[in-house]
Amino acid sequence: MPSDDQFTLITADRVIDARGGLPLERGAVLMEGSKIAAVGRAEDVRAPEGAAVAVSDYPGCTILPGMVDCHTHHNGFGDGRLGDDLALLPDEVLTLQSARNARVSLYSGVTTIRENGPKNATMFRLRDSIDAGLTIGPRMVLCGRPVAIIGGHMGYFGGEATGPIETRALTRQLIKEGADYIKIVATGGTTRTSFPTLPSFNVDELRAVTDEARKFGKLTATHSASLAGIANSLDAGVDMIIHCYYRERDGSDNFREDIAERIGQQGAFVNPTLQVSRATAWELAHKREAQGLSADERAQLDEARANLEVRLEHTRRMIEMGLKVITGSDSSWSSYRLGNTVYETELLVHAGYTPMQGILSVTSRAAAALDMADKVGTLEPGKEADVLVVRGNPARDIDDLWNVADVFFAGRKLERGSDESLAAVRQPRAQGV
Ligand SMILES: [Zn+2]
Repeated sequence: MPSDDQFTLITADRVIDARGGLPLERGAVLMEGSKIAAVGRAEDVRAPEGAAVAVSDYPGCTILPGMVDCHTHHNGFGDGRLGDDLALLPDEVLTLQSARNARVSLYSGVTTIRENGPKNATMFRLRDSIDAGLTIGPRMVLCGRPVAIIGGHMGYFGGEATGPIETRALTRQLIKEGADYIKIVATGGTTRTSFPTLPSFNVDELRAVTDEARKFGKLTATHSASLAGIANSLDAGVDMIIHCYYRERDGSDNFREDIAERIGQQGAFVNPTLQVSRATAWELAHKREAQGLSADERAQLDEARANLEVRLEHTRRMIEMGLKVITGSDSSWSSYRLGNTVYETELLVHAGYTPMQGILSVTSRAAAALDMADKVGTLEPGKEADVLVVRGNPARDIDDLWNVADVFFAGRKLERGSDESLAAVRQPRAQGV
């Protein structure tokens, strides 16, 4: 039952406040209403004398900030269908599916999301519904719909524009409707009528968006599935490069250190989206076990594996160069389902982050990437009381982020449902991928 106590005091074997230091052994977090009141050693943190306080101890556990996922697609199902097909569904159905995804994601410990590509106003309506108390979900940083070219990737979501006047106008329209940031599609992608290795917008069109967004204090992020898209994005001064494929026009992979250096110089964040390839590979590997694969599917499996290897290597180099690489899952794109954000963080650890750096990539650094660092992402007095408790120590083994004991959202402990329903959310790994 939700507690009506004014204060909640939780203690555990350790607290990771995600400010960059070592875990605090035998730590405590005190929440007052929806905010964090104090963080420290268990013997030092106390509710005021005589205050109503709910106390819980979590032996063998770690307390850390709720996770921040910088890249979601709440409209989707994560069942392999393309965005083209998703966009054929009515907005009402997409909004209901988004509500289901939002709940699943929140229960997995994700307390803030940035949505990267819904159709029309579906996510604005979901946020309205959450604000009205009809349903629950994480804090949401919304783009409305992506800014795309005619026939380009994600144009089917309702945000096509041509020329700098139209891209500027669409930016104003999205801000009028309630957009918190602007998502731009700078290259093609999986959309059938798009060209993944070619740029979509010209630089003047991109610059009109980034100028206008900056004027209103909004961040920008570009889907960039090729080198030309990354270069154009940097010319336009975007704040985050998504996917960040070092891929030439002819489809060959080529890690361009000069481009990576520019990303670093401009201070742009990078969201590599690694798990989305692995999820496809897992799906196909499971199918191979169950019923075998066609020649086409075998080729897809080989391609997904090869792509993952290349992308891991490129991400490793970006991490070594000190670029600001953060966690953004890209679920439910392709076969990657909401509620599985931890797989993306795990792959960033494979690519070279320490487990603690992995934790920061999905908490404080992710919050900084969304310009939310004053509200969420660390455990500090005055911040929102979005708090995750996991069994084990994720600073030693990042997989312990899966072992959620409790999630507190705005100071309230969530009733997350049965162990069976929670376990069913996690997508199974596949052998040999
Ligand atoms: Zn995406």
